Amino acid sequence: MTAQEFDLVTDRLRGRAIFLYFHLMGEPMLHPLLPDFIRMAREKGFRTVLTSNGTLPAKAMRLLSSLPHKVQLSLHSHESNGKGILADYIDKVMQFAIPAAEQGTCVVLRLWNQGGRESENEQVMQLLEKYVQKPWHERPDGYRLCDNLYLEFDRKFEWPVVQQAPSSSPEGEGFLDSIDPLNDVFEQKEVTKNSPPRGSRRGAEIFCKALYKQIGVLSDGSLVPCCMDHNGDITLGNLFTQSLDEILDSPRAKAMVEGFRHHKASELLCRNCESGNVRNSFRGKPKS
Ligand code: SF4
Repeated sequence: MTAQEFDLVTDRLRGRAIFLYFHLMGEPMLHPLLPDFIRMAREKGFRTVLTSNGTLPAKAMRLLSSLPHKVQLSLHSHESNGKGILADYIDKVMQFAIPAAEQGTCVVLRLWNQGGRESENEQVMQLLEKYVQKPWHERPDGYRLCDNLYLEFDRKFEWPVVQQAPSSSPEGEGFLDSIDPLNDVFEQKEVTKNSPPRGSRRGAEIFCKALYKQIGVLSDGSLVPCCMDHNGDITLGNLFTQSLDEILDSPRAKAMVEGFRHHKASELLCRNCESGNVRNSFRGKPKS
């Protein structure tokens, strides 16, 4: 996205959104205009939030002069990606995190790996203690290490996917067909003929604040309902050429909102989305 395009999109969102998150898949630190974008967004009244894997320390340090409102650093990415020495990685993260927190940015160190690759977590916590000594203040979802610096736990993050399924699939029956004839495809994830895919929403209650409290904008201006839809499976319009109201007034967008009101998903991606499953609306430290 160019500076002109960013200017246009933020003009169209101005007054309609408070928080502006610089992530929808991908690593935002790679964008050469990121510091400029943060400044532009702040001048337009947005509160800016950034999520990074923390592996680009030089690019992170240049943000210290244009810090966003909040930075989320995915420490779980080290074990997932299996690259480099953990202590070196944590050192680079903390070289940025501590001065950023001291300058008033809320910095959240994420270990979102419960149920996944979480064997390094204890070691990560021991390393963090070298930079911020205990006692840490315990919170429901982790710890406050010091002013503006948090450690946060959550489940392993799973991207929902949409794939074509056989037309005879029983998933095709019911609410989806009546509410969304545009999408004659059905989500499948680790699917076998006789067992429902993991995360399948058939019969599950689904609720999401998408289009009511959140939207996503891809780099080509496509408007999607959330940050899960990095592929643009639910492209509802384009903010480069349309207003937000015009897009939200489309039948497809209205069907989504109406569906969520009834704890149903009109879109197949949503039916395979862990975030939309009502039973998953919690976060917390592992219970000992
Ligand atoms: S249920 Fe999941 S995929 Fe659907 S809009 Fe919400 S966050 Fe996005």
